[in-house]
Formats: sequence, C-alpha cells, structure tokens
Amino acid sequence: MKKIIFITLSLFVSSVHAACPGGKTYPVSLTFDDGPHPTLTPKVLKILEEEKIKASFFVLGEHFPGGKSNPANKWAYDLLEKEKKAGHYIGSHTFHHIDHSQMLSHHKMSEAEVKNNIVRSGALIKDYLNPILRLPYGAGSFHSSNPVVQKNNDLIMKTIKEAGYKHVGWDIDTEDWNAKKRANVLPSTLKQICQTHGGVILFHDIQANTVAHLREWIHAIRAEGHTIVGLEHFVPDVKKPLPAAICEMPAPGKPISKQSEDLSHHVHQAVQHIKKD
Ligand SMILES: [Zn+2]
Repeated sequence: MKKIIFITLSLFVSSVHAACPGGKTYPVSLTFDDGPHPTLTPKVLKILEEEKIKASFFVLGEHFPGGKSNPANKWAYDLLEKEKKAGHYIGSHTFHHIDHSQMLSHHKMSEAEVKNNIVRSGALIKDYLNPILRLPYGAGSFHSSNPVVQKNNDLIMKTIKEAGYKHVGWDIDTEDWNAKKRANVLPSTLKQICQTHGGVILFHDIQANTVAHLREWIHAIRAEGHTIVGLEHFVPDVKKPLPAAICEMPAPGKPISKQSEDLSHHVHQAVQHIKKD
C-alpha cells in the first residue's frame, strides 16, 4: 500500500515539476511590465523583499502625466521611489502602450509621433530610471522578412539607441496577461527556462493573478535549482549611468492619434478593472 502511495506521489510530483534534462539549473531574472499599479505593485514589492529578489520594472510614462508637478501622480512616484530604494532596476516601457512598428507600417502615426512616444517618458522618470527600455509587445525589436516593416523597426531601434537606452527583450514569456492560459504559466515558464538555458522572464505587475501566484512561482523556480539573479547578469549596461539625452524633454508631439489611443486602451481597462476589485 505504502509503495502504491509512493509511486502515485512520485508521478504527481514529476508531472508538476519539470526539472531540466540532466538536472541542469540556470540563472533567471524577473521583470515586470506595464506598471506601476496602485495596489498590485506594492504587493509585488513586498513579495520580492521577503524573497530577497532584485527585479526590474518597465514602467509606462502615461502613469506620470505632467510629471512631479501633478499631485495626482504622487502614488506612482512613491512606488518608483520604493522600487529604487529596494535596489530594483527601473526601465522605460515608452509612454503609451502602443505597437510602434504597426503604427508606422500602417501609417497610423508619423515618424515624429512614434519617436516622441518612445523618448518622452525619460524626462518624467529620470530620477529613478536606469538606461534600459522595453518596447510594448517587443514590437520593433524583432526581425521582419517584410523590408518595409524591417525599415520601420530599424528606425525604432535607432531612436532607442540614440536616446541612450539599451533595449531589453525577454527570453521566457509567461503570458501571464492571458486569462485563458493561467493554469499554464508555471509549467510553461519552467519548460522555457530549460529550453533557453535561463534568461530574462517577462511578467506584468498589473495582473492580479500574477500577484496572487508570484510567491508560489518563485518557490517552484527555485525548487528546480534555478537561481534568481539581477538583470545585470544578462544586461551589464543596466549599471551604466543615465545618459543626459534620456532626460531631455522632447518637443511636444502632435496629439496621439485615435487608433493608438485605442491600442493603449487595454492597459487602462486592465488598470481600471483591477482598481475596482
Ligand atoms: Zn507591456
């Protein structure tokens, strides 16, 4: 009887844990996009503190409209302060959460508007920022077989580089934003860590489900023998001082087009929805 229970338990454990072939273990770094969020980001910070993890936050400039002179932004700046004090890295996720590559390729925005959306966050969050940027959806950082799209992507990446940022993508996509794949976040993450031999993991600190399971996921990653490290392990440039160009306020761009507002709308909706919880 004991043997049966043992075998059943072993099968159960092996189906939950997906140790890498050969018992290999890898370093990973946690990153969180789309924040800060007034109630969820503080919970993420608490878990990271208790688990002694230095993570990275890629924040949206639209959470800081009008900068520090706007008292309505106090909560958001307070969270940046906490993130910085705790030793986390802070990167830009651009201003509005738009697909810059698609905006150019579909002529929804001009080059000047796209460039403006990429660089305008810098001046707003310069007191907290590290010289790193992640494009929403990674759009613009990938290779395209379409020469027109590739030309636009080259322009986007050139804009990021000239502004003084290092673009930071990800190796492991948790898809934690996808409500239909919630049960798959952990198994998929563990599988990808083996496939990519570790690397940068993408999470979102505006997702209530992520915050609810983060500690459990961290424990599961560590139970496999993997080590959670700071982003400098993969991106040494994150330690560099902030170039002056990043802090410059760009010339005001034209009002953002209707289409791009629609695209960034889902983030607002997510925040609004979570705020109601
Ligand atoms: Zn994002």
